[in-house]
Amino acid sequence: MSVDKRILIVGAGLSGAVIGRELALKGYQVDIVDSRDHIGGNCHTVRDEATGVMVHVYGPHIFHTDDAEVWDYVNGFTSFLPYKNRVKTTSGGQVYSLPVNLHTINQFFGKTFRPDEARAFLEEQADETITDPQTFEEQALRFVGRDLYEAFFKGYTQKQWGCSPTELPASILKRLPVRFNYDDNYFFHKYQGMPESGYSDMIERILDHPAITVTLNTKFKRCDGAGYGHVFYSGPLDGYFDYELGRLGYRTLDFERFTYDGDYQGCAVMNFGEVDVPFTRITEHKHFSPWEEHSGSVCYREYSRACEPNDIPYYPIRLVKEKAQLADYVALAQQERDVTFVGRLGTYRYLDMDVTIREALDTARLYLDGKADNLPMKSFLSSPI
Ligand SMILES: Cc1cc2nc3c(=O)[nH]c(=O)nc-3n(C[C@H](O)[C@H](O)[C@H](O)COP(=O)(O)OP(=O)(O)OC[C@H]3O[C@@H](n4cnc5c(N)ncnc54)[C@H](O)[C@@H]3O)c2cc1C
Repeated sequence: MSVDKRILIVGAGLSGAVIGRELALKGYQVDIVDSRDHIGGNCHTVRDEATGVMVHVYGPHIFHTDDAEVWDYVNGFTSFLPYKNRVKTTSGGQVYSLPVNLHTINQFFGKTFRPDEARAFLEEQADETITDPQTFEEQALRFVGRDLYEAFFKGYTQKQWGCSPTELPASILKRLPVRFNYDDNYFFHKYQGMPESGYSDMIERILDHPAITVTLNTKFKRCDGAGYGHVFYSGPLDGYFDYELGRLGYRTLDFERFTYDGDYQGCAVMNFGEVDVPFTRITEHKHFSPWEEHSGSVCYREYSRACEPNDIPYYPIRLVKEKAQLADYVALAQQERDVTFVGRLGTYRYLDMDVTIREALDTARLYLDGKADNLPMKSFLSSPI
């Protein structure tokens, strides 16, 4: 087979799997390498042998989208069962419903407001002296007032980002983070669900094509691209360049796994909004598969902290300093020939799974169309800055 028809993909997560399959279907020979000992990237799921619970190894993943093509795509590989994410939070010795909704407001203030009354009440709580909010804290105080801010936003945000909400930009809280009805479904999207047999099984099916070879436990080096017509790289953008311009800032997560005989907390996700509780949330994985029954339980206490060189990068920070550094890395990446940077790490963005799949499909199409028209492939599908 000619070099032109051979493709190297770095990363066997959703980005790599979807691009790999789309190209394999069009006659390309696709080699995929991943440094981990499993496929699936951060969506990896595995059934716990002792309890039978499907565990979301790198933190819980809920599929939600308005993109009908992406929904049809994933349903072509596995069956999705209904799942609505309903999050609770413990604050001030009580349990409330999230996102902050009419139930939360009524419970918190000891009221029986109807929607219009709650709206008017919150307008009175809002700090109107803040006319041009610059920070997350100012934005929250302007939207919901001090009491709700301190109970539901301040501590959680501080733990998640590792800094005071006074140091974060107002843009993080773009819209009023409150609902004036009893809708406690975390996501608004039309299609929501969970793959019945887990994400890794779904991704294994995406990868199941005779023209795709997956090699695990293999870390990509830049020289590995020789002998291939194109490389699609879903590893960390700064890692590709051996961090020569420094490391892009990430938050990492530590999961403290524990098991329980029975139902530990009665729901999938319990947040902890107070700063003196060191973890941000506890997730109980059997509740992510509500159609299954297990007597035992697997839970994760989740801690957020700054990402060090040997940690797994989870959330890109993307504040002013990181964006400047990102621009420099993007300029370097654009000088590379026959390499496209994809996915959450390759483009240094937080991407939900549906967006990841959409971009992977579009990337594969752009590549195939470019080949047909003899056009060079872009380094990025769209600018990550
Ligand atoms: C805590 C958390 C919770 C999330 N929850 C949700 C959710 O509920 N719903 C949702 O839609 N999305 C969620 N996401 C987002 C979801 O994880 C991403 O959309 C998805 O993982 C992106 O897939 P990817 O293939 O781009 O990246 P990844 O899944 O990170 O895959 C990249 C792969 O590349 C490999 N790799 C990296 N560098 C190299 C190298 N040098 N050589 C070889 N291999 C390499 C890695 O091992 C990895 O397997 C969540 C993300 C996080 C962090």
